[in-house]
Amino acid sequence: MHAMVVLVDQSEHFVFKPMLYELLSGEVDAWEIAPRFSDLLANNDVQFFQDRVKLLHPSDHWGMNGPASGCGGFVHLESGLLIEYDWYNSCDP
Ligand SMILES: Cc1cc2nc3c(=O)[nH]c(=O)nc-3n(C[C@H](O)[C@H](O)[C@H](O)COP(=O)(O)OP(=O)(O)OC[C@H]3O[C@@H](n4cnc5c(N)ncnc54)[C@H](O)[C@@H]3O)c2cc1C
Repeated sequence: MHAMVVLVDQSEHFVFKPMLYELLSGEVDAWEIAPRFSDLLANNDVQFFQDRVKLLHPSDHWGMNGPASGCGGFVHLESGLLIEYDWYNSCDP
């Protein structure tokens, strides 16, 4: 199964926080610990939206053994964009 992955982050950069100390001490440059998401994702299928999540509206149904297959919902972004999502439980038979 080929999944479509969408990444939403309000920031243009991913920040690897454990190395912030090294940035302050001058051992690394900013680009090494805070690369742009667009650079990180350049060679794969992940679609990146720089936006702020306003509302997460899950519509999952929980069965006796955890989440039922066909779970999903939508994400409301500050820009007004609405992203529908679903997810697949790989433990399902
Ligand atoms: C100085 C420092 C040192 C650390 N050292 C260690 C360590 O040695 N080992 C360790 O295990 N952990 C360490 N941590 C903790 C570790 O960095 C965090 O646990 C980890 O970053 C949490 O990952 P996260 O993806 O949940 O959150 P974050 O890394 O904080 O990422 C959250 C992301 O969500 C985005 N975001 C937030 N709100 C919204 C919104 N409404 N819409 C869109 N995007 C949004 C932010 O822009 C951010 O990119 C350290 C933290 C700090 C600050």
